[in-house]
Amino acid sequence: MKEPIIKLAIAEKFLNLARANSIWPMTFGLACCAIEMMAGAMARFDIARFGAEVFRPSPRQADLMIVNGTVTKKMAPTVVTLYEQMPSPKWVIVMGNCAISGGPFAFKGQYNIIEGIDKLIPVDVYVPGCPPRPEGLLEGLMKLEEKITGTRRFPVPEQRW
Ligand code: SF4
Repeated sequence: MKEPIIKLAIAEKFLNLARANSIWPMTFGLACCAIEMMAGAMARFDIARFGAEVFRPSPRQADLMIVNGTVTKKMAPTVVTLYEQMPSPKWVIVMGNCAISGGPFAFKGQYNIIEGIDKLIPVDVYVPGCPPRPEGLLEGLMKLEEKITGTRRFPVPEQRW
């Protein structure tokens, strides 16, 4: 993200608090991980609790890209264009092993996929899994909020097993 020319520390702190609590993700799905993202927006997991329910159909109205699924070489230029069309400040969550590293499709001799979207665009948070559950995405959102504001809003979930 480009640094602003004039920076007022207190105003920036409030702005970041507002940004972190009203993230607008882009409506955007590449493969099976997108189904888990959609589940995250439904009533059971309810991403609206964290202010991120306003999924935008246009990159120009979004400040979060959730890359969720296999990035084929054919689709990669479109992903980059969509990212470039988002206004700053903007963030990227990578959801699932395919988008992180190629997942099950990364093998010697493969010719069709990008083995990690971070080779093409900057990534802020990685959510591993095949697919990650919606709770994983919500935790990724918490990590992003922490990155934007410098503090964590909710306690880290207890490890039960
Ligand atoms: S990580 Fe697994 S669930 Fe997600 S897009 Fe790849 S194959 Fe599908």
